[in-house]
Amino acid sequence: MAAMIIDGKALAAKVKEEVRTRAQKLAVRPGLAVIIVGDNPASRVYVNGKKKDCEECGFYSEEHALPGTASQQELLDLIAVLNEREDIDGILVQLPLPGQFNEQEVLRAIRPDKDVDCFHPYNVGKLMIGEDGFLPCTPSGVMRMLEEYGVDVAGKHCVVVGRSNIVGKPQAILMLRKHATVTVCHSRTPDLAEQCRKADVLVAAVGKVGLITADMVKDGAVVIDVAMNRNEQGKLCGDVCYEKVAQKASHITPVPGGVGPMTRAMLMENTLYAAKNHGK
Ligand code: NAP
Repeated sequence: MAAMIIDGKALAAKVKEEVRTRAQKLAVRPGLAVIIVGDNPASRVYVNGKKKDCEECGFYSEEHALPGTASQQELLDLIAVLNEREDIDGILVQLPLPGQFNEQEVLRAIRPDKDVDCFHPYNVGKLMIGEDGFLPCTPSGVMRMLEEYGVDVAGKHCVVVGRSNIVGKPQAILMLRKHATVTVCHSRTPDLAEQCRKADVLVAAVGKVGLITADMVKDGAVVIDVAMNRNEQGKLCGDVCYEKVAQKASHITPVPGGVGPMTRAMLMENTLYAAKNHGK
């Protein structure tokens, strides 16, 4: 039987509507500052999307566009100013930064209470030990999708393919927090297909077209495709061979229209969370 398609676009619209309603109850609207450095076309698309999301949620937003020739110090100075501004609840530096920047130093410069991407080591540490705080946008978007579609990971075997700090690792932590048994696979995993076949819930977060084939998926598994790749025709696609896997899975996310919109929606959740913590 064909899998149920997890509609990330529709769910993201619902999440943003909820955020908008909750934000309306605040005395002062939440504010997000987005910093973009250089002229990476993909970054421009993402930043424009975030501004639009802020409008939809009734947030204040502002963009700071620095030239690709800007220095590390200029960026750190800008972050220092935004850190002190009361109208700004969240600061987001669009990644990747041009080569001359030290990304880790930049991300650490953002005050943890304004770190809406949840990249600061302080927030990553809180996530690890299960304290309340920001949740990283992509993995928390995945968890929200699972919840919405009635997939309880407790006691299930979740396999996460990819171990990046942005997706794979925090995804595994969030699933562990919900009482799943989690396997994390990566480029040195010798038996990827065998590991994937054990998954009740399979999360692909690699960035390789066609990596997850139907023979790697157990009948009835839930398949979440985080990746955003371009295939040979230049079309957006994930890591999963969608058509064939959809014949075996119980649920599957499409690309586009799956995890991507949810990542954006969870950024709005985090900005609202920051505003509330700032007493708004
Ligand atoms: P990344 O930092 O490049 O990490 C990729 C991971 O995949 C690494 O852990 C790597 O292993 C692993 N890997 C590479 N080849 C593999 C293979 N053949 N078998 C198993 N694992 C393999 O990428 P990322 O930032 O996590 O992003 C992953 C994908 O998700 C990309 O397509 C990205 O565009 C997409 N993404 C989407 C969203 C969204 O909102 N939908 C958000 C973020 C990222 P090693 O650690 O051993 O190198």
